[in-house]
Amino acid sequence: MEIAADEPRFFEVEPLDGESLSHFLGRFRRENYLTSTQLGKLTGLGAVILRWEKLYFNPFPTRQELEALSSVVGINADRLMEMLPSQGMTMKPRPIRLCAACYAESPCHRVEWQLKDKIRCDGYAGQRHRHNLRLLIKCTNCETPFPIPADWVQGECSHCFLPFPTMAKRQKRD
Ligand SMILES: [Zn+2]
Ligand SMILES: [Zn+2]
Repeated sequence: MEIAADEPRFFEVEPLDGESLSHFLGRFRRENYLTSTQLGKLTGLGAVILRWEKLYFNPFPTRQELEALSSVVGINADRLMEMLPSQGMTMKPRPIRLCAACYAESPCHRVEWQLKDKIRCDGYAGQRHRHNLRLLIKCTNCETPFPIPADWVQGECSHCFLPFPTMAKRQKRD
């Protein structure tokens, strides 16, 4: 395989099952020491990157935009598309939701948690048990709302530092 010497190379980040675009962008940026402004410049997408990190997908990302992102992150546009709500699904960007039990198994924010009428977690493909737990919208200890997924660095509350997996104990199964 030929590698063009003048092309900037980046560390690739493998997407996780069901991961939202916001969460993936945060991981990619941190792995490559990039701010969202820098990633905006590199992709030519500008402030669109920050909008996506905030889960604002209106107007919906175009194929062309996803191709531009793809050329930098090294993940093909079809796979990036899977990180977005599927066609016809309405997404609610706030509040940011979390299934702490899912997070304990695979540490990422899932795009399906933000679907408009989503109240509980149905689990995901490849998971052994469905949790059927109510999704959380704030820290179970101090009630601080969750930050945008791009900022989930350690997977803990940004205020009291309670780890997300620990919050599963307080998730309701009703
Ligand atoms: Zn779950
Ligand atoms: Zn907290």
